[in-house]
Amino acid sequence: MSEFDFDLFVIGAGSGGVRASRMAAAMGVRVAVAEDRYLGGTCVNVGCVPKKLFVYASHYAESFAEAQGFGLTSGDISFDWPTLRDNKTREIERLNGIYNNMLVNSGCTLIDGRATLVDAHTVAVGDTTYTAERILVAVGGWPNIPQFPGNEHVISSNEVFFLEEFPKRALVVGGGYIAVEFAGIFAGLGAQTSLIYRGDMFLRGFDNEVREFTAQEVAKKHVDLRFNTNIEKIEKAADGTLTAHLTDGSTVEADCIMYATGRVPNVANLGLEALGIEQGKNGAIAVNDQFQTSVPSVYAIGDVIDRVQLTPVALAEGMVLVRNLYGNQNQQVDYDLIPTAVFCQPNIGTVGLTEEQAREQYSNIDIYKSDFRAMKHTLSGSDERTLMKMIVDRDSDKVLGVHMVGPEAGEIIQGIGIALKAGATKAVFDSTIGIHPTAAEEFVTMREPAR
Ligand code: FAD
Ligand code: NDP
Repeated sequence: MSEFDFDLFVIGAGSGGVRASRMAAAMGVRVAVAEDRYLGGTCVNVGCVPKKLFVYASHYAESFAEAQGFGLTSGDISFDWPTLRDNKTREIERLNGIYNNMLVNSGCTLIDGRATLVDAHTVAVGDTTYTAERILVAVGGWPNIPQFPGNEHVISSNEVFFLEEFPKRALVVGGGYIAVEFAGIFAGLGAQTSLIYRGDMFLRGFDNEVREFTAQEVAKKHVDLRFNTNIEKIEKAADGTLTAHLTDGSTVEADCIMYATGRVPNVANLGLEALGIEQGKNGAIAVNDQFQTSVPSVYAIGDVIDRVQLTPVALAEGMVLVRNLYGNQNQQVDYDLIPTAVFCQPNIGTVGLTEEQAREQYSNIDIYKSDFRAMKHTLSGSDERTLMKMIVDRDSDKVLGVHMVGPEAGEIIQGIGIALKAGATKAVFDSTIGIHPTAAEEFVTMREPAR
């Protein structure tokens, strides 16, 4: 009989924690999972899933308008926010139930409440303590809102999914995934929308040409893009109007100001310091390549280790951890060639090196590029354009990076990610027969380098 209550105590039932718990329990490990807020974590409740439902919603107005070029007309289009918000919430509640059943049916003990670390083998939830041979910290991240006068008037992605009223005027601050996605959601659903970013071009870290192209397309969808500025203070008037005073001297009025200025590890009052668990920038838990912290019985995965804040990465980390601890394996997560999408309008899909990174790492690279108006828009009347770009090492012919800005870019780049993972060369792309007529076939028909 073990000296511990559990073999594995998981703190946080989000993307990483749920995957690790279920997998371990299925291997016969005695698992407890503590969750204090919502089963499924950020992704299911206030992240990927409700966000994507809103993205779908935000495309309809455009689709109705485009349909006219194809001979389809309908009456006046109106948008009812409570219908979208409440249908979304019902769907999330259904998913919460599924997560509950998955955990319980796999044999995990589910504990409702906030867990803190007591010592290397003990966790407290409320007045109860539990011991475990190993503890896994999978507590995720939390929105980071800077300090400035009036910041009590802003919301983050945590609140945006539950707004009482849909704003007529929305202001989004930040230049990362969340800001660009929500600018598209607000604008698509009819809000007069501005996006403020402190640097000279949003989406830092993405391919420069992709960033420029995206800015051009997002601006076409009536998002007022303001770069090289930031909010100094916000004032609220009696009628609820928020006035943002910007560093460039201008002001913007809005009914809702959403900050999407990054997320920090959710480690406050978790007990890490008392245990001497090493932490890095913003409190991120430091782990080795086996996800072990400086206290050997305590492990951490997902956003709280702040490597790559994406659900599929948290899942991969959870799976590798469990296979290594309980499945007698010695795997590592491969952080190379992680495909990713930004669900702005149109989408960005990307995998591999940017042109800038490739130029730093390789001496001879070829850039293949296609910038076109999708066939659909010959009749729809939309002036939206699509960008596809491929970066190839001329010496080995290996494809180093593939980027797309256009409808369903995320769907298309997922498959291309597999090709790059398999080490595909440009010759392999060229010898692949296209699917006609699609946009994706451009990736196998780019014959001449653009530069
Ligand atoms: P989380 O999913 O955050 O789970 C952590 C869980 O721990 C939470 O449920 C929390 O309540 C719980 N918890 C915290 N502290 C305690 C405690 N002390 N005791 C008990 N429980 C605790 N990623 C994508 O790949 N694609 C997307 O499209 C995407 N869209 C996103 C959109 C938004 C608006 C946001 C905010 C994020 C998005 N992400 C997306 C990122 C993705 O949600 C995260 O990378 C992922 O959820 C991280 O998983 P995790 O397990 O580390 O943490
Ligand atoms: P990001 O880290 O992607 O972007 C944060 C943005 O805020 C950057 O543009 C940053 O500017 C800016 N910023 C940071 N601090 C300040 C400040 N004090 N004042 C003004 N601007 C500031 O974070 P997000 O919040 O957008 O998203 C968090 C993470 O969640 C993402 O990185 C991503 O991993 C994940 N996510 C994934 C999605 C997907 O897969 N589709 C969707 C949504 C989120 P600068 O660039 O100058 O530093």
